[in-house]
Amino acid sequence: MEKVTEIFGSMVFDDLTMKANLSSDTYIKLKKTIDEGAPLDLSVANVVAEAMKDWAIEKGATHFTHWFQPLTGVTAEKHDSFISPSNDGRVVMEFSGKELIKGEPDASSFPSGGIRATFEARGYTAWDPTSYAFVKGKTLYIPTAFCSYSGEALDKKTPLLRSMEALNKQALRILRLFGNEDAKAVRTSVGAEQEYFLVDKDLYAARKDLVFTGRTLFGAMPPKGQEMDDHYFGAINSRVAAYMEDLDTELWKLGIFSKTKHNEVAPAQHELAPIYTSTNLATDQNQLTMDVMQKVAEKHDLVCLLHEKPYAGVNGSGKHNNWSISTDTGVNLLSPGDTPYENAQFLIFLCAVIKAVDDYQDLLRIAVATAGNDNRLGANEAPPAVVSMFLGDELTAIMDAIIEERPYSASEKQTMKLGVDVLPKFAKDNTDRNRTSPFAFTGNKFEFRMLGSANSIACTNIMLNSAVAESLRIYADRLEGAEDFEAALHDLIKKTFSEHRRIIFNGNGYDDEWIKEAESRGLLNYRTTPDALPHLLDEKNVTMLTNLGVYSEVELRSRCEILLENYYKTMLIEARTMTDMVDKQILPAVESYLGDLAATANAKRQFNPDLKLSHENRLITKLSECADMIDQRNLELQEVTKKAESIADAVEGSCYIRDNILDKMAALREVCDEAETMTAEEYWPIPNYGYLLFLV
Ligand code: ADP
Ligand code: MG
Repeated sequence: MEKVTEIFGSMVFDDLTMKANLSSDTYIKLKKTIDEGAPLDLSVANVVAEAMKDWAIEKGATHFTHWFQPLTGVTAEKHDSFISPSNDGRVVMEFSGKELIKGEPDASSFPSGGIRATFEARGYTAWDPTSYAFVKGKTLYIPTAFCSYSGEALDKKTPLLRSMEALNKQALRILRLFGNEDAKAVRTSVGAEQEYFLVDKDLYAARKDLVFTGRTLFGAMPPKGQEMDDHYFGAINSRVAAYMEDLDTELWKLGIFSKTKHNEVAPAQHELAPIYTSTNLATDQNQLTMDVMQKVAEKHDLVCLLHEKPYAGVNGSGKHNNWSISTDTGVNLLSPGDTPYENAQFLIFLCAVIKAVDDYQDLLRIAVATAGNDNRLGANEAPPAVVSMFLGDELTAIMDAIIEERPYSASEKQTMKLGVDVLPKFAKDNTDRNRTSPFAFTGNKFEFRMLGSANSIACTNIMLNSAVAESLRIYADRLEGAEDFEAALHDLIKKTFSEHRRIIFNGNGYDDEWIKEAESRGLLNYRTTPDALPHLLDEKNVTMLTNLGVYSEVELRSRCEILLENYYKTMLIEARTMTDMVDKQILPAVESYLGDLAATANAKRQFNPDLKLSHENRLITKLSECADMIDQRNLELQEVTKKAESIADAVEGSCYIRDNILDKMAALREVCDEAETMTAEEYWPIPNYGYLLFLV
């Protein structure tokens, strides 16, 4: 095998490659665009494009694509070849600066929630030079943003970049108040831990539910599930190990810092963690990781399931968004400092996050709301749908001391007055002992754990960056006008801690008692996607997001509609897949087994008319009762599905599904799974859970 250090980033047009392939003059100009957003001359873009093309062709590329993240959640790409006719009737390979900077994909088939209808028919993609171009397969990928001609964002990257800019601006205001004149930029970084399942390709192909919906809609529990707790961090079997090795290599080539891999709690479940990087890059890299995971699986005759809940009865898959804020000079603003002065600055940023999470619980919940994730949140294996924060004992003690204006520990003589020179020095506590909190402080970063495995991390980070920018904006307004900075700072920190104490919860987030307590604290509990999403348009949310320039109101409306529509369509596909499988596979299988049982019984009776056929009688009676129930519940599901299909309004349609279809799907599954346990294995038409989970 090639050396890791050599293959890492070998398919990326990164800084090193740029330096090697561009004149120093062009490199400097491009760098200015990347670092400071300076506009790039077309003449320079032409030179960059030419160099990029030559490099890409050397790596085997014949095509290029503007790669973007439309609102569907997956990434989109349209491949154009470099070829261009030449005078001698042959072709030359060409790629111009114009093609690099701007593309015009046929946008009409991407969801826009009405934006394009209202404004312009076409959209365009614009090169995002802050994320490196790369070669995958035979194509040069150019990361881009996707906008309508009237400027509305039709993708997830544009608002993400805007949210990063909003946070940058407000955080710099705070840093200046602390006398920091060096920092030129404040950026957020993210490390996204990704969970996934692997399943054998042939078994997958034999299940319409997996093929059409990404999850199993039927399946009785096998004799063994995850109860032995023997899978988490267990030895990785050789087929999976070969997959992971290949996956790492492919990710490394693309410059993705895949670092940790291990087995997860459920059988056939695994996790990949990258080393954290700038939020924009982390978002692109996570999308790419999900894509590569699926591609590499094919080579190993496996399928990689990114659905949040592929199997009932074992854990689902999530994604952990580890998030921190730091300066371009390398200071992590969420890291408690070595001096009281640094700690005052740390506390104000901590407060900004606490206030943000409490004020915008709904936006964080909305950011992870999908049909798939609804199967997971609040299901005893994942955080509940209630957002709360874990701070750990020490920080909580400090917070309470500040609220009550008393010494923070027995050894501290002075009260916690935040005149910065009396703030105590406190130890960095890097141990996160709470794995059940949706939003946990883990020493120098926050880990948001509500994301589903298939979610794009863009939405979460857009909301998180924006909400924190809003807290910082309010703080900066207050502090810039203060006569006595230290007194104002103290008041602000105390006020934030007092007003937002309710969002802090260090206990077991999976406990039912907590849900009751959370409700008594006034925390929101939006259990399902249709409960959560309409609140995107609540006045306070629209005001905050539009004032910061992250979204326009039109963009927010379109997003709300698209997300609800997505839920509605996903659920209808699931309901139709269920009834299809019942009609064409499950009922025929049960009937065929019943027929053979009856035939056997008859044959036996012919042989001996007095024979008591207790086994056949019992089974035939129970199984035919079961078949009748399946039929009845199937008809009921079909009826409500038809009704749901006739609803045009996205809000109404998704609420109808929540109230009428979910229960019926669960009821139908229940009797089908019961029938599975009574039917001989050779008759059952789809691979069972035992094979799916244990034959990887
Ligand atoms: P675990 O959550 O399993 O305890 P770690 O805390 O080591 O593991 O890291 C989990 C993820 O957090 C990794 O992707 C890592 O790169 C990322 N991470 C570590 N430090 C930071 C940071 N300062 N900002 C953002 N992400 C970070
Ligand atoms: Mg983690």
